[in-house]
Amino acid sequence: MELDELLAKFREYSQQDTTVLEYAWNYSVEAHLEQKRASGEMYFVHCAAVAEILVGYKMDLETVAAGLMHDVLEDTKIPHETFRKEFGDEIYALVAGVTKIETLKFSSRDEAQAENWRKMILATAKDIRVIVIKLADRLHNMRTLNFLTREKQLEISHETISLYAPLAQRLGIFQLKSQLEDLSFKYLHPDEYQSLLAKVQLRYAMSEKLLEDFKTGLEKHISGTQIPCRVLSRAKNIYSIYRKMLRQEKPFEEIQDALGVRIITDNVINCYALLGTVHSIFKPVAGSFTDYIAVPKMNLYQSLHTSVMAASGEVIEIQIRTEEMHRTSEYGIAAHWRYKMGEKGADRHLDEKLNWLRQWMEWLQDLSSPREFIESFKTDLELDQIFIFTPKGDVKPLPVGATPLDFAYIIHSDIGDTCIGAKVNNKMARLDAPLKSGDLCEIITRRNSAPKKDWLTSVKTAGARSHIRKYLREHGQLED
Ligand code: MN
Repeated sequence: MELDELLAKFREYSQQDTTVLEYAWNYSVEAHLEQKRASGEMYFVHCAAVAEILVGYKMDLETVAAGLMHDVLEDTKIPHETFRKEFGDEIYALVAGVTKIETLKFSSRDEAQAENWRKMILATAKDIRVIVIKLADRLHNMRTLNFLTREKQLEISHETISLYAPLAQRLGIFQLKSQLEDLSFKYLHPDEYQSLLAKVQLRYAMSEKLLEDFKTGLEKHISGTQIPCRVLSRAKNIYSIYRKMLRQEKPFEEIQDALGVRIITDNVINCYALLGTVHSIFKPVAGSFTDYIAVPKMNLYQSLHTSVMAASGEVIEIQIRTEEMHRTSEYGIAAHWRYKMGEKGADRHLDEKLNWLRQWMEWLQDLSSPREFIESFKTDLELDQIFIFTPKGDVKPLPVGATPLDFAYIIHSDIGDTCIGAKVNNKMARLDAPLKSGDLCEIITRRNSAPKKDWLTSVKTAGARSHIRKYLREHGQLED
């Protein structure tokens, strides 16, 4: 991709002045001049590719500029202050955010740990746009993974499928999530991937003829109505089929995968008009109609769903939606960003203050059930969390102000009860000194050692406090 192409694509959806983009482009070229990628290409090719992905999601100017320069702080000796003065606080914060995430090295194979890591990445990012840049970066790295060693491929694919694909899903960027999953799957299980790919393509080829006939029939009728629309066949996510096979313990041949098309039009009234047209040509399957336009899903998803019988007797699933609804379903928060942020600079400052909280609210809306919503509210919305590493590299979330004693009780109440000391980042530390996010904490225990009364003032978590009280009460050292 060349600078001119990038600018042209950006101008298709934004009025923002592109001077900064040109400047960022040249700045990044210059900064990475000496660097090469594993493929042998100039390093900057990667930066341009990340920016191209971001423009594809119609991200704002700051995000695209930060995408162009996302590796500048990590890979070059340019001081943070110099960069901040050059590009201002907003772009600096985005690039610094991506750089910070880069330093988190995930190695655990444990699913529960992955969830804590995802939380930590979110807490570290502070701005959803940082995550979107990081996801675009990861997507391009996955697309060029063939140039790395097998060991690296496995490590990065594992990290992608357990950390980044779920993040993309929670942001509602399904298109990105599917791509990250399929690319990881290709490296993690190459044989399964190849055989499944071949089968999916075969099935797809057979159904293609059927869908083509269906589309032609449909288009003929719709063209008479003068309603503008386009008909799309649904994309396949190979990994999701694989997961379905594992879940249902069935071979590919027995997995039901309904044929589906999407009809995309300009406005809501035309959605209903098209639904009427579809039902007048094809017989609807009883009970299959759902109106997610009148009643959107919790994650803001909107569409009309119906299933009809094709002339051939096959059942075809149809989704009818507007362009805007389509963008939301494919790009999630990334699609909303531009509109929510507004391109009028005036509200900007107030907006920024509310960003973090509002992002969480948007985030929460992506969850599927009220129960999940409330659970997240309890755990995730405590913004004042810190993340502490165990010597094995696991991550434990704790409230701000938590001490090594809290950490000991989080690991196990016996560890807490018999704790006699702690090392923080390999140095002896006081049991009541507050920990910082990212600290590595090791607890030293001695058998038959016991909780002391003054510990009650050294802990922050309710769990630790109640364990200590329980012990003291049982040993007559505490009157209720
Ligand atoms: Mn990168």
